[in-house]
Amino acid sequence: NRRILLAARPSGEVRPDDWQHDSVPVEEPGPGRFAGRTRVISLDPAMRGWLDDRPSYLPPVGIGEVMRAGSVIEVTASEHPDFQPGDHVVGTFGVQEYVVSDGKGAMKIDTSLAPPSTYLGALGMPGMTAYFGLLDVGALKDGETVVVSGAAGAVGSIAGQIAKARGCRVVGIAGGPEKCSLLVDELGFDAAVDYRAEDVRKALRREAPDGIDVYFDNVGGDILDAALTRLAMHARVVVCGAISQYNNVTPVKGPSNYLSLLVRRARMEGFVVFDYAQRYAQAARDISAWIEAGRIKVREHVVRGSVDDFPETLAMLFRGENVGKLVLELA
Ligand code: NDP
Repeated sequence: NRRILLAARPSGEVRPDDWQHDSVPVEEPGPGRFAGRTRVISLDPAMRGWLDDRPSYLPPVGIGEVMRAGSVIEVTASEHPDFQPGDHVVGTFGVQEYVVSDGKGAMKIDTSLAPPSTYLGALGMPGMTAYFGLLDVGALKDGETVVVSGAAGAVGSIAGQIAKARGCRVVGIAGGPEKCSLLVDELGFDAAVDYRAEDVRKALRREAPDGIDVYFDNVGGDILDAALTRLAMHARVVVCGAISQYNNVTPVKGPSNYLSLLVRRARMEGFVVFDYAQRYAQAARDISAWIEAGRIKVREHVVRGSVDDFPETLAMLFRGENVGKLVLELA
């Protein structure tokens, strides 16, 4: 069983020697447990935060522990009444080829409805994040103007398309011309802003002339600051993430334009998707229906390889090399 363990706490960007590649014998499941082989591993920006030894919504991954990751496994042997060989199961099983689980936090998935990777993307945690972030935290109303950063990523691409399905004007912010044309030409966004090529503040003045009602922020930093200058009255700023800050060795850059919340009687609110677990089933039904109706197009970036490719694949997120949900599919 090849596995990736955390070897050292990174400072700034994660380096290859922050990881340890090891191999241990494959375990038998034992009573009340099942064993499975990993099919697809999710790569998430939040993983960077789990490597730091500081209080957060989950404890940090310990030094010498298997790296935490969501994945889909295929059950190979079971002494658990609810899981049978051949079942596909999604859970937080870590970066390893074989898994033994007591089933806690694990959920069987139906691979006849969608491929395993989609249960890590549109129908999984990123899809849930987009849904609850936009509809609950953002309190989206039909027809509003919505701006999404990290718009060509796993969460952003779904958030923007949900807003389109709700009849909103949607502007996506992403890095590079390919991602921007994907947003407009394929995913139905009304406009896209390439933050690497243009001044975001000016571009938002052009694309959201009446102001932004909901700003769904995945990136933080300068882009958040630019969006804050364009808020409409009673706007909602959804703090989903701040990937531009995750590799900082200096403190997180705070918003310098936050007084526009005062002037615009706006609010800014963060959330953690796990708090909505009781309502995932409803969200998944709604997202599936939008996919079926062609309102949401699912984009996945599948890297094929072995668990040893995990570190390099994770780094892609921070270089903007993924389009849509990034996963590592094991051969
Ligand atoms: P993505 O698929 O969006 O991948 C990350 C993307 O971030 C990259 O493709 C890149 O796109 C962009 N990016 C990287 N560095 C920068 C930078 N310095 N400035 C601006 N953009 C950058 O990841 P996810 O959809 O999985 O996650 C998106 C956000 O949602 C993250 O901040 C994550 O932490 C957050 N999140 C929050 C949850 C919650 O419960 N609150 C749950 C899940 C995710 P580009 O080429 O456009 O730069």
